[in-house]
Amino acid sequence: MFARHFIDSLDFAHNGRELRGIVPLTEMPRLQDMLATPDGKISYFVRGLPDKDGKPMLEVTVDGLCQLRCQRCLNGFPYPLKLFSRLMLARAGELNEFSVDENDEVDSIAADKHLDVMDMIEEEILLSLPFAPKHPQGECHSAVKEINALDKRPFAIHEDLKCWSGTKRN
Ligand SMILES: [Zn+2]
Repeated sequence: MFARHFIDSLDFAHNGRELRGIVPLTEMPRLQDMLATPDGKISYFVRGLPDKDGKPMLEVTVDGLCQLRCQRCLNGFPYPLKLFSRLMLARAGELNEFSVDENDEVDSIAADKHLDVMDMIEEEILLSLPFAPKHPQGECHSAVKEINALDKRPFAIHEDLKCWSGTKRN
């Protein structure tokens, strides 16, 4: 059984703590909805640090591979999960103040004494995924072939029946 990690996010940032590990994608139920196969894993690295103004923040690095489901043909295709995010930790009541910050390269999350690290990483991955994942144009061929094969099956059976009744009559 995979152990989930919970951290006191402000304490984690102020003390420059680090957490790294490998997690199977099966631990990410919301991400699973986007995947063609449940397999795969990611490695992650979470680091706490003060930003240049001394405000607490978390750096999240993720590296891995998943099979996204193509929205055109519903087949899977490999998609690298590589991301690096900086998350400001906002105390209660400060979140709105941060969200109007001009620096839109840095997101804010509410400081949490019991932050679910896996949930935060899953959220970052979901935000990084394309809105409607698809194969590159013209690469959905295998699915088209499968649909054609299904269409031809009734005719094949029909031919067999003709042969059979023909033999029977002789
Ligand atoms: Zn496709």
